[in-house]
Amino acid sequence: MKSNNKKEELLDVAIIGGGIVGTSLLFTLANFTGVKRIALFEKNKELGQGNSNYRNNSKTLHEGFAETNYSLEKMKRMKIAGILFRGYLRRSKVIKEGLIRKEEVFSEVPFFVLAINEEIDLLETKYEQIKNLFPEVKLLNRKEIFNLEPNIVKGRNKNERIEAIFKENGLALNFGNIAKTLAQDSLIKDKDIKILKNQEINEIKDRDDYFELKTNGNLFYSKFVYVSSSANSFYFAKKMGFLENFSLLNIRGNYYSYPPVINSKVYRVQIEKIPFVQIHADPNPFLKNKSVEFGPTAEIILSNEYAKDFDLNYIYNYLIKDKDTIYSIINIFKDSDIRKFIFKNVLYRFPKVGKWLFAIEAKKIVPKLNVDYLEFNKGGIRPQLVDNSQAKLVLGEKQFAFNNIMFAITPSPGASASILNSIESSNYICKQLDVKFNIDDLLNYFKLEVEQIKDIKLNFL
Ligand SMILES: Cc1cc2nc3c(=O)[nH]c(=O)nc-3n(C[C@H](O)[C@H](O)[C@H](O)COP(=O)(O)OP(=O)(O)OC[C@H]3O[C@@H](n4cnc5c(N)ncnc54)[C@H](O)[C@@H]3O)c2cc1C
Repeated sequence: MKSNNKKEELLDVAIIGGGIVGTSLLFTLANFTGVKRIALFEKNKELGQGNSNYRNNSKTLHEGFAETNYSLEKMKRMKIAGILFRGYLRRSKVIKEGLIRKEEVFSEVPFFVLAINEEIDLLETKYEQIKNLFPEVKLLNRKEIFNLEPNIVKGRNKNERIEAIFKENGLALNFGNIAKTLAQDSLIKDKDIKILKNQEINEIKDRDDYFELKTNGNLFYSKFVYVSSSANSFYFAKKMGFLENFSLLNIRGNYYSYPPVINSKVYRVQIEKIPFVQIHADPNPFLKNKSVEFGPTAEIILSNEYAKDFDLNYIYNYLIKDKDTIYSIINIFKDSDIRKFIFKNVLYRFPKVGKWLFAIEAKKIVPKLNVDYLEFNKGGIRPQLVDNSQAKLVLGEKQFAFNNIMFAITPSPGASASILNSIESSNYICKQLDVKFNIDDLLNYFKLEVEQIKDIKLNFL
């Protein structure tokens, strides 16, 4: 094995994983901090091909108004996250210069959150809570829904009541391509920024005053390590003795494509206790045939790679050897709502009957949907953290910091929150490394957005 000269090669920050989360951190560190030597390691030959790839997720910029299970604080936080994300898209040099076409990066799309029958009370309560925070969001009745998206109403039983929260200009995002633009926008002249593709990190060793990173052919050394490799972040943390009170369930979200039948994102109200969105409809503007994707399902898989259903190494090391995972799964399954939800999602994978059962849910959005036109495709993995001390599923993405190493575990809305989270992590990293965080440069870059969020009483730094 070739060994680099440690002192000469000592990186300030090593980022493991080149999805939207790793590249957001690279962008923020490169542009707004004094951190000089950064390397991003990606095991694939391209950035953004994991969960951030546009076929693996719902491509939604979550801005806080659509999730009926968020607290007010979480809604405010996601509003800030959304504003910063939009700010980046507006200013990205790579997008402005057309190095990557705008149409391959984002697209405006109307956004509904649909409530049916007894869900309407919850939707109306939510609307009352959010209407000041999101003045652009409206509450629509059946007729107004029909005028904007007739296929939500056509064929629906007349006695079924519907209402919707509506925003005219939601965003569909190709997070995989945005990972590429963020990386390009990070190549700052007077800094040593390396983007190392086809470089899988196999091991991280803590050598007290630095970390040693092992790939297949090389050793790298870094003062700080940020692990943003989706479910693998968790396994790196476990191997290093961290996160002992947590386990992880890998939940794949699959989709069914359907010919273009609506032009808007149509979400549903959330089921209480379940951290996953209900099946919704997403027109995919990044596909040539503009098909609508219905999903995602929530399928527990026995692997930590989105492409595999089953992996013996995973089963042995993280299910059989780690008894906590087994106990917490048993505890979580004691809750009948969660049990029913998981069971229903298992059935979706059964040949024929699965598609038919899935169509029952999809028809709640488009009643006249024809089951024969639904086409299955696998989606990405939501690494779902379980807090073993409370036997509870943890809602949303999380970052864990232990001195000079951080681990990002990123189910939805991890992609939408990536720029906001990267600002907070960069701030932490600068403090740890005793390097300047150039807050004025950051505020200057996001000037317009900072204006928009100054009334929200939430410190994002
Ligand atoms: C079905 C589904 C729907 C979703 N919908 C939305 C949505 O609408 N909006 C939203 O905001 N979020 C959504 N999410 C969540 C979002 O997709 C993720 O939060 C986001 O993509 C995570 O980005 P990441 O960079 O952490 O992970 P990834 O994009 O998976 O990137 C991790 C990278 O690490 C690399 N890697 C792994 N191990 C190693 C290693 N050992 N060495 C080097 N590289 C390694 C991988 O190859 C990969 O490129 C959804 C997720 C799923 C699964």
